[in-house]
Amino acid sequence: MGKSDCDSPVIELDLAKIYHNAKTLVQLFKSQHSEIMGITKVVLGNPIIAKALTSAGIKYIGDSRIENLKRMIKEDVNAEFVLIRTPFRSNVKQVVKYADISFNTELSIIKKLSENAVNLTKVHQIILMIEMGDLREGILRTDIEQMIQNILPLKGIKIRGIGTNLACFGGIKPTALKMKELSDIAMFIENKFRIKLELISGGNSANFEWFQEIKNRNRINNIRLGEAIFLGRETLYRKPIKGLYQDAVNLITEVIESNKKESVPDGEICQDAFGQIPSFKDKGIISRAILGIGRQDVDVNGLTPLADVNIIGSSSDHIILEITKSIINVGDKIRFKLNYSALLSAMTSPFVKKVIINNI
Ligand SMILES: *Cc1c(COP(=O)(O)O)cnc(C)c1O
Repeated sequence: MGKSDCDSPVIELDLAKIYHNAKTLVQLFKSQHSEIMGITKVVLGNPIIAKALTSAGIKYIGDSRIENLKRMIKEDVNAEFVLIRTPFRSNVKQVVKYADISFNTELSIIKKLSENAVNLTKVHQIILMIEMGDLREGILRTDIEQMIQNILPLKGIKIRGIGTNLACFGGIKPTALKMKELSDIAMFIENKFRIKLELISGGNSANFEWFQEIKNRNRINNIRLGEAIFLGRETLYRKPIKGLYQDAVNLITEVIESNKKESVPDGEICQDAFGQIPSFKDKGIISRAILGIGRQDVDVNGLTPLADVNIIGSSSDHIILEITKSIINVGDKIRFKLNYSALLSAMTSPFVKKVIINNI
């Protein structure tokens, strides 16, 4: 992937581990008559990774960005492509062109999708997102019936299913009750309008526990997974999922200074580079190292070092470490685990090189 003169910092993506995670999840869900949608936004729709997901048996690839869908289509990733962020009005033509399915909540947008689908002689499929308490995107339950009545006559539009998104903006748990309600809404729509809803998408990696614990999932037959695939864990409590790798992705960056210095800055303390007033504990002289990566590249709060160091601070371009045990020299590489936010930011930074190892 992307050429660079400098091989630090680097995000290392272990393709064999990502494939293993995806395949394990596909099989687990399949044994329970459900399918998963692989969510690729965190890897910017990287086609090599998307192909690993499809070879693991994932049929639906979802991404929030049209640019990422285009990238995967161009590289012949073989999947049904789903745009999982509801479309911009100014961009509906691209949606119809590149997405097989899109998530929707606004009638005026769906009408535009319909016009564009007719123009392109296509049928664009939609999943209607239902508001179930998390207060991000979603049609209010009281509006669903009217909405569907208005959609059904539109040409070039097919309602493929419904879905909801929880544990995101509002942190609301996808409980058995919430999921049963979604399932009931699906059955209500099917009975009322005599249509078949093929895809009932119950949520994201936060639904994992519900999926494992509740045997009767009624009509819910799809879950959208990003973090579970790439970081091997569910997202309500961030518990590791058994049998998956939690270290498929790592960040590696180089030490650009290593020295013994005071633990407390010398002088009057005012605001730091980000408008905060820092405070320091006096531990006397400590071993410190500086890494050539900073807040412009990664959400530093989401990094966990895999070495005997503590992160004591960061600036736009640096992370400052306290070295606790071993000796660390200039030029040494320090490895980090990333949480989803750190992964998202580092993958999006043009200054962080992306390297795929263990090709499948
Ligand atoms: C990002 C996203 C997901 C994936 O969430 P994870 O927690 O990474 O599994 C699912 N659905 C929607 C609508 C999203 O935007």
